[in-house]
Amino acid sequence: MRDDLSALEGYHSPQVHVRVRLNTNESPFPPPAAWRDAFAAELSRVEWHRYPDRSATALREGIAALHGVRADQVFAANGSNEVLQTLLLTFAGPGRTVATFEPTYQLHGHIARLTGATVVEGERAADFTLDLAEVRRVLAAARPSVTFLCSPNNPTGLEEPEANVREVLSLSPGLLVVDEAYGQFASWSAMGMVHDELPMVVSRTFSKTWSMAGSRLGYLVGPSWLVAELDKVVLPYHLDAAKQIAGRLALQYADEMEARVQLVVTERDRLMAAMAAMPIDVFPSGANFVLFRPRGIAGRVVWQGLLDRSVLVRDCSSWPRLDDCLRVTIGTPDENDEFLTALSEVMR
Ligand code: PMP
Repeated sequence: MRDDLSALEGYHSPQVHVRVRLNTNESPFPPPAAWRDAFAAELSRVEWHRYPDRSATALREGIAALHGVRADQVFAANGSNEVLQTLLLTFAGPGRTVATFEPTYQLHGHIARLTGATVVEGERAADFTLDLAEVRRVLAAARPSVTFLCSPNNPTGLEEPEANVREVLSLSPGLLVVDEAYGQFASWSAMGMVHDELPMVVSRTFSKTWSMAGSRLGYLVGPSWLVAELDKVVLPYHLDAAKQIAGRLALQYADEMEARVQLVVTERDRLMAAMAAMPIDVFPSGANFVLFRPRGIAGRVVWQGLLDRSVLVRDCSSWPRLDDCLRVTIGTPDENDEFLTALSEVMR
């Protein structure tokens, strides 16, 4: 086994059996019933003895139409995690450096290390906004092949303002990856910045907005030359026939998906207002989750108190810079009520 891997920790997201599960940022709503029926009907016609369409043409065309780009600017994979892995296999690796600004999504650094790259971690400001002086310092010193931004950022929830993304793009000596796993919940998207002449990509997922975490489908939009390189690196036939159908059909229900996003955003704002009325610091969120820090009581104690009431949130309290912080995923209105009731009991 590689020495550098034995020192790494795996990625953990503990699951406990509870009534209200608000810990992994999934959609609380299932996909539309019409999608399920259409999916089942198409599945019955799949030629299972044949390999699937290797380049997932119809799926890519559908995603391209959604974003008003060309199909050769779209790369799809098994969840946006595999999109990130393919990017890092292509642009990172031994002898290369990858920059992240912490706290951010742990898998950016983790997958980069798996490829053998060195990860340089810049620090965000005390309020978790991006510190552009720190960005300048890190990018000038490390000259990374890949620089990550995440907007809205997991686990903080903060959106990256457009001016910051433009500034980081101009400072970055290599590829800029903007992870928009939660992009549809936010007030703006960097998708419109993607251009064949710019070294940047925007990644998205079907796991959150599209209510399809069970299907493992993600994609990026980027320059066509870059997509062609990723196609060389990813395994042949990596997208199975069922997944290609699931994703392509989901795109026909964009209005239903958008309605789900709006419901989550409305609930998020209700939740944040109710939490702010308690002795809790609530971080601004453009995502489908909210990071918060109870005042005058340990985060771990609040997490346990919620669990005792069968409500599971993500315990971030032992993560670097996130002392006493918890992260709650927006659920259905009923789940959110249960969470708020449990939280107010624990805080009392
Ligand atoms: N990026 C971010 C910021 C995430 O939070 C997640 C999910 N936790 C992912 C990517 C991966 O999502 P998926 O592989 O389900 O598309």
